[in-house]
Amino acid sequence: MNLHSSLFTYRANFLFRGLPVFRLFRKPWCMTSQDSFMAAAIEEARKGRAAGGIPIGSVLVLDGEIIGRGHNRRVQDGSVIHHAEMNCLENAGRLPASVYRRCTLYSTLSPCPMCSGAVLLYGIRRIVVGENETFCGPETYLRSQGVEVEVLQDPQCIRIMRDFIEQEPALWNEDIGE
Ligand SMILES: [Zn+2]
Repeated sequence: MNLHSSLFTYRANFLFRGLPVFRLFRKPWCMTSQDSFMAAAIEEARKGRAAGGIPIGSVLVLDGEIIGRGHNRRVQDGSVIHHAEMNCLENAGRLPASVYRRCTLYSTLSPCPMCSGAVLLYGIRRIVVGENETFCGPETYLRSQGVEVEVLQDPQCIRIMRDFIEQEPALWNEDIGE
């Protein structure tokens, strides 16, 4: 390669990298939409932890779009019902049954019996779970009721929960009723 062509390559790289359209496409190439929804749930979990809460996050997705998001707010609000999934459903607002049927609920952790109950009550047909190694809710029961349960065993989700349980064992036991 002569000096002229290498200079050209350098300039071209510099120019392209500066263009907003190339910036837009740089990341999502290697990211599926499922990854990005779980990433949004993880972001919620981190937000909760940063506020002194329990790091579990959730998003509700309708036709490829997030229509609700939330995180566990037991500590922040002194709430006994605002687990991540309940908080997410509450933030999504009242929706007709026909909408819930088309939704997928993402959660960084396997949903507990209360949140799994809400999934069944509202007729949500699909859930994507970040991990079920640190805690496993009634996934077998959900499946027996026709809910599609996909478990990602995402290393980030596992790390967030392991760190939290190590740092706050009493708070964690309270959250799962132990
Ligand atoms: Zn729950």
